[in-house]
Amino acid sequence: MEFVDLRSDTVTKPTPEMREAMAEAEVGDDVYMDDPTVNALQEKAAEMLGKEDSLFVPSGTMGNLLALLVHCQRGDEVIVGDKSHIYVNEAGGMSALGGIHPHPLKNQTDGTLALDEILAAIQSEDVHHTITRLICLENTQNACGGVVLSADYMRAVGKIARENNLSLHVDGARIFNAATALNISVKDLVEPADSVMFCLSKGLVSPVGSMLVGTKKFINRARHLRKMVGGGMRQAGVLAAAGLISLEKMSTRLGQDHARAKKLFEGLNQVQGLKLDAFGSSSTNMVFFNLADEVKLSVDQIIEEMKKHGVLVDWAGPRRFRLVTHYWVDDAGVEKAIKAFAAVMK
Ligand SMILES: *Cc1c(COP(=O)(O)O)cnc(C)c1O
Repeated sequence: MEFVDLRSDTVTKPTPEMREAMAEAEVGDDVYMDDPTVNALQEKAAEMLGKEDSLFVPSGTMGNLLALLVHCQRGDEVIVGDKSHIYVNEAGGMSALGGIHPHPLKNQTDGTLALDEILAAIQSEDVHHTITRLICLENTQNACGGVVLSADYMRAVGKIARENNLSLHVDGARIFNAATALNISVKDLVEPADSVMFCLSKGLVSPVGSMLVGTKKFINRARHLRKMVGGGMRQAGVLAAAGLISLEKMSTRLGQDHARAKKLFEGLNQVQGLKLDAFGSSSTNMVFFNLADEVKLSVDQIIEEMKKHGVLVDWAGPRRFRLVTHYWVDDAGVEKAIKAFAAVMK
C-alpha cells in the first residue's frame, strides 16, 4: 500500500532530480575544504541568508550545538524557550557537552518569549550569577503549533541582545517556512540574528543535512568544533548536491505545503472527536489537535487504525496529534487522510 505519511516533514525522501544530482556530484575531501559541491552549497546558503559564511553539518542538532559552543563558554547562560527544540529535544547537549546553563522562559502561545521576561532574565553583574551570553529563538516554533515569529518580533529581540551585549541565535530548522508564510525573504527575517541554523532535511526535502550561518569568524570556529564532535565529513558533496536543489527549488514551493495544511485543518475540523488547534495566518505546515474527552480510542489505537487506511500519523502527547504536510503529500493525500480520520473516529 502507498502510505500518506504525515508524521513529519523529516520523512521526505529525495526527489529523482536530487538523486541524479547526487550521483553526478563533483566531490572532494571537505575536511580539506576541497569539495566543490559543499563549497557551492555553503556559499549559496550564506548568500540567501545574508551572512558572511556558512557550514554544512550532518544535523540540525549539531548545528545548534556548534552555535551554542561558539557563542558561550562553560558556565555561561542561555535564554531559551521552555518548549524549544534546543531545550527539550537535543538531549541536553548544551549542558552535557558545553557546560552551558539554560535559562528557560515560557514560550507564549504565539511561540514568542515575552520581551519583558527576556529583559528580566538577563543576569546582573554579580559573583553569584552566571553570565548571560545568548538568546535563542525558534522560527517556526514547532511545539507551539509550527507558528511563525514575525520580523518585527525578531528585530525587537535583536535590539535587546545588542543593547545588552548578548548574541542572538535562531534555530531556524523551518526558517524557509516562516519566510514563506510572512511573504518576505529569509534574509530580511534573519537580519537581526548573529547565527542561524536551518534544516535541508525537512520541508526542503534533502535526505541529510543542515546549515549553520554567521560571520566568517563564527563559522571558522564552528568548523573547528564540528571536527571535535565528529561532524567533519569527507566527500559530502553527494549530500550537498541535494542541498543545492533544496535551496534553489524547494525553498520556493513551501506555500503549497501550507495551503494543504490549511485544507487538512478544515477537513479534520469537521470530524467528530477531534479538537483542532486554531489554524491562522501564523500557521505553516503543521496541524495539531487533541482527542475530545469522550473519545474512547487511545492515541496508539488511532495510529494503528489510520495505518490500515494507508495514512501514517504520529502522536504529540498522550491525547494529542501533530500532522505535517510536505513535498510528498499531494491534494489526494490530504483528502485520503481526512476520509481516514472520519472513518476511524466514527
Ligand atoms: C528538527 C529540528 C531540529 C534538529 O534537527 P535534526 O536534523 O533532527 O537534528 C532543531 N530544531 C527544530 C525546531 C527542529 O524541528
